[in-house]
Amino acid sequence: MATIDFDFRNQILGNEIGNTLAYCYQCATCSGACPVAQVTEGRYNPRRLILDALLGLKEKIFGPENAFNIWGCTVCDTCDEVCPQKVELTEIFTLLKNMSVERGEAPVHYTGQASTVLEHGKAIPMQPAIERRRTQLGLPEIMAPDMDEVKKLLEATKLPEKLPKSELS
Ligand code: SF4
Ligand code: SF4
Repeated sequence: MATIDFDFRNQILGNEIGNTLAYCYQCATCSGACPVAQVTEGRYNPRRLILDALLGLKEKIFGPENAFNIWGCTVCDTCDEVCPQKVELTEIFTLLKNMSVERGEAPVHYTGQASTVLEHGKAIPMQPAIERRRTQLGLPEIMAPDMDEVKKLLEATKLPEKLPKSELS
């Protein structure tokens, strides 16, 4: 049986936005409207995630085996719009995602993409095939990002410290 982690619970409830989860009365309107819950036939379940966070059941939320519970959310904001209690689900899930990153449990496709932005200033670096296609379509040349500025901004967010060392060049 999962145990209650009061520190974790207080961490969420002590957050200005996270504390809105205290108003959840488990009506499941969020899960009914969530597109990810629909396509995964309930495997992803925002109502359950909110309940687990409210109860402080940390071990049901974190750990590599539970990664989809947090990272399945596409941040479409539908749940926020339909929640009758104005629970800020998406923001609460962002808090959980940030904790998952701190624990080194973020899925590699997220950290890999963040590393690419850190290195190239964009999620999809320019490639000769893309350049050729743009020329064929008569599209203008794309300006290279100012990497000094991009790095300065990302360092201010402490992104490089949070990425797995193996992904940094
Ligand atoms: S819609 Fe709001 S009140 Fe209802 S279960 Fe979801 S978070 Fe809780
Ligand atoms: S923001 Fe996430 S949890 Fe909410 S409806 Fe969209 S995918 Fe589902």
